[in-house]
Amino acid sequence: MKKIAFFCIPAHGHTNPMVGVARELVSRGNIVRFYSFDEFEEKIKATGAEFVSCQSFLPEISESERARLKKSSNTEMSIQDIRITLAMNDFLENEFNAFKPDVVYTDSVCFWGKLNALKFNVPMVVSTSTFAFNQMSTTYMKNSPGELADMIFGLPKVNREMQTLKQYGYKFKSFLDIVRSDDDTDSVVYASRLFQPYAESYSDHYLFAGPSVSTDIVPDKKKDRPLVYISLGTVVNDKPDFYKNCIKGLEDIDADIIMSCGKDTDISTLGKLPDNIKAYQYVNQLEVLSHADAFISHCGMNSASESLFMAVPLILFPQTGEQHAVARRAYELGAGRYLKKYTPDYIRKAVEDVLGNKKYAEAAQKCSEDFRSCQGFKGAADFIENAPHDASENTFMEELNKRNGRFMIAYWAVIAALVIVSIILKFPFSWIFPVVGGIVSKPIGNAFQSAMYKKLAARNNKQSD
Ligand code: UDP
Repeated sequence: MKKIAFFCIPAHGHTNPMVGVARELVSRGNIVRFYSFDEFEEKIKATGAEFVSCQSFLPEISESERARLKKSSNTEMSIQDIRITLAMNDFLENEFNAFKPDVVYTDSVCFWGKLNALKFNVPMVVSTSTFAFNQMSTTYMKNSPGELADMIFGLPKVNREMQTLKQYGYKFKSFLDIVRSDDDTDSVVYASRLFQPYAESYSDHYLFAGPSVSTDIVPDKKKDRPLVYISLGTVVNDKPDFYKNCIKGLEDIDADIIMSCGKDTDISTLGKLPDNIKAYQYVNQLEVLSHADAFISHCGMNSASESLFMAVPLILFPQTGEQHAVARRAYELGAGRYLKKYTPDYIRKAVEDVLGNKKYAEAAQKCSEDFRSCQGFKGAADFIENAPHDASENTFMEELNKRNGRFMIAYWAVIAALVIVSIILKFPFSWIFPVVGGIVSKPIGNAFQSAMYKKLAARNNKQSD
C-alpha cells in the first residue's frame, strides 16, 4: 500500500485520464489524495480517492487574461500556473510534511505538482495527456503565426515570473526544463506506442499506456443510414460560422448529423435545423461515437482517441499546434482526411469521401484494435506503484544528433569547396552556392534526420527482438 499524491490543473482533458488511474490505484488498497478543483470533486470522490480542494488558490483573473486563456495562450497558461504555484506554496509545504506521499503523480503542465515533488524529493511520475513531445515529436506541431508570436513575445514575461519561483526554493534550470518531456522522468503517456510519433526515441522511463478511454460501450453501427458527429471539443468551440456551414453543406445529405457546439453557443442562433441535423451544447460523446461513421473533429487528444477507439474515421480540423500533431498522426495511419477549408462545399465533399471510402473505416478499425490491446489504467497503476524506475541509458537522440551534426558539417564543407573552386575558376556567381545552400539546408537536414531516424529505430527494434 502506498500514499500517492495526485496534482492536476483545472482542465477536463488533463483531469479525466488521472481519474481513471486514481480509481485503479484505490481499488488496489492505495491511499490516493487528489489535489484538484471544485468542478471535479464529485468525479474524484467517486473513485474513492480523497479530494483536496485547491479552489481558493486560483487567482482572480482579468477579462483580457480570461480571453487569452480561452484562446489557449501558452504564455497566459504558464503565468497562471506560476501564480497558482506561489499561492499554494505554504499550503503544499504543510501537506507534504503531514501526508508524506511515497509517490507524486502530476500532470505534465501542473507546475505546483512537479516543482513540489522535486523540492520535497518525492519520486514523481508525470501524466501526459497529449503526446510526449521531444525534439523529434515537436516537429509534428504546426503552430499558427498567432501561437508563435504568443510564445516568442511571451517568453521574457514568463521568465520574469519564474524568477520569483526560485526565491521560494523551487529547483529548475529554465521554463523548458519544467514543461518538456525529458528522458529521465518517469512518465505515463495516454497514447499507444503506435499512435505516439517517434515512440522509439523515448527511454524506458516512458509508459505508453494507450488512450484513457474508460467505457463498457461497444461500437454498434447498425442503422438505416450513416451517422456523422461534429464537435470542436470543450475549450475553443465558439465558432458559429463553422456550425452554420456544416448545416448548409449537410442539410440534404443521406445521413444523420449530430453536432455538439459547446456551452457558449446559443443553438437557437444557428437557425432552423433540417430534419437530419440535431445540435446540442454537449452530448455523451462516447455514446454518440459508438454509433457514428465519421467525426469532424478539432483533434483534441481525447476526442481523436475516443473516435479511433470506437473505430470511427476522422475528418481532421485541427486548430492548435498540439491538435495539428494529433491530426497528422491520424492522417499518417490512414484513419482520417483533412478538412482544408470549412465552406459548405468542402465539408460536404469531406463527409462524402470518408463515408464512401472503406479505407478510412478499415484504418480506424486497426487503430481501435491497437488501442484496445493497450495496458490502460491498470498498466499506469502498476507503473506508479513501482516508481521510481531504473532505465538503461537512452542514447537514441544523442546518436541521432551526432549523425545530424556530422552530416551538416559535411554539407557545409561541400558548399565551401564549391565556392572556393568557383572563385579559382573565376565563376562570377560564386555567391549563389551559400545562398541556395542556406535556403535548402533545412529541408535537406530534415530529410536526412528522418532517414537516419528510421535507420536507428530499425536497428533498435532488431536488437530488442
Ligand atoms: N466531450 C463530451 N461531450 C461533448 C464534447 C466533448 O463528452 O459534447 C468530451 C469528449 O468526450 C472528450 C473531451 O470532452 O473526452 C474533450 O477533450 P479533447 O481533448 O478532445 O478536447 P478539448 O476539449 O480539451 O479541446
